[in-house]
Amino acid sequence: MALLLPVNIFVLIKQVPDQSAKAGINADGTIDRAKAKRMLNPFDRYALEAALHTKRTYGGTVTAITMGPPPAVEILYEAIAHGADRAILLSDRRLAASDTLATAFALFNTVRYAGAFDLVFCGLQTTDGDTAQVGPQLAERLQVPQITYCEWFELEDRNITARRVVEGGAQTIRCPLPAVVTVANSYQRLAYKTLRGVQRVQQLQRDEAERQKVIQTVNLDDIQADPVRCGLKGSPTIVAATEKVGEIGGRCVILQGKPVESLVSELVRSAALKDMVKS
Ligand SMILES: Cc1cc2nc3c(=O)[nH]c(=O)nc-3n(C[C@H](O)[C@H](O)[C@H](O)COP(=O)(O)OP(=O)(O)OC[C@H]3O[C@@H](n4cnc5c(N)ncnc54)[C@H](O)[C@@H]3O)c2cc1C
Repeated sequence: MALLLPVNIFVLIKQVPDQSAKAGINADGTIDRAKAKRMLNPFDRYALEAALHTKRTYGGTVTAITMGPPPAVEILYEAIAHGADRAILLSDRRLAASDTLATAFALFNTVRYAGAFDLVFCGLQTTDGDTAQVGPQLAERLQVPQITYCEWFELEDRNITARRVVEGGAQTIRCPLPAVVTVANSYQRLAYKTLRGVQRVQQLQRDEAERQKVIQTVNLDDIQADPVRCGLKGSPTIVAATEKVGEIGGRCVILQGKPVESLVSELVRSAALKDMVKS
């Protein structure tokens, strides 16, 4: 097994509003991102695990990259606590109102700024924008192969062999590095934070000079991204309307204590079921 490694691994992670918290929704149904409680996008936990697994298995370094407002640094600390080596926060007011095209453009420039890479891992999608477009758009801009919905992979001879989730089964494909991989949520769960990682975060929080070395904060000028192609100006998407979806009422009837055949007949006859079907 000839591996030209260590592997230079990037992982893109996003901070999203915590959907379990009600605060942070405006009256018109849009997200008040400043007030919303925040969390690491759940899908990005699988991408982070894929990046760390690659490092554990083949050696290399993991760079976590995010684009967001200054509090997004929280998820970079989280990535370091799990074992990432360094991180980049792209933060710039001119990025506000970026759609996926503008986001992928800004992230493409950040990846280029971050240097040479073998693998860029992304989550499958986010729980806020939810488009699953950023990974593929990034791969197109970087002009490297992309593997989407990846649930297993191995590296050999500077190639990646991966199993993708496809409708009704799985597909195994192979391509040369460098590549962009979006990781499915059937991939293995993110391992616990490491003691060394947690101690590293504590050290960075005490030592500002060291923090700036490990977690770089950059703006559009630093990464040499054209501001006209970012933020509102660079976003062709127009939100025509936002609708509030009413809560779906649910009623639960538990039938038990009889043989299953009688329970099924009872269920079919039951007024409750007819009501449910009507509504
Ligand atoms: C008109 C409009 C205005 C918007 N304004 C804002 C705004 O002001 N602020 C805002 O936060 N969002 C805003 N959004 C949402 C924003 O465009 C999307 O959240 C963003 O483009 C990512 O798309 P997505 O969430 O669908 O990601 P997906 O394509 O579903 O994400 C796939 C993967 O890409 C990576 N990724 C995606 N986004 C990022 C990121 N920012 N940093 C690192 N990795 C990432 C992650 O690995 C993620 O799992 C706006 C959207 C529209 C349409």
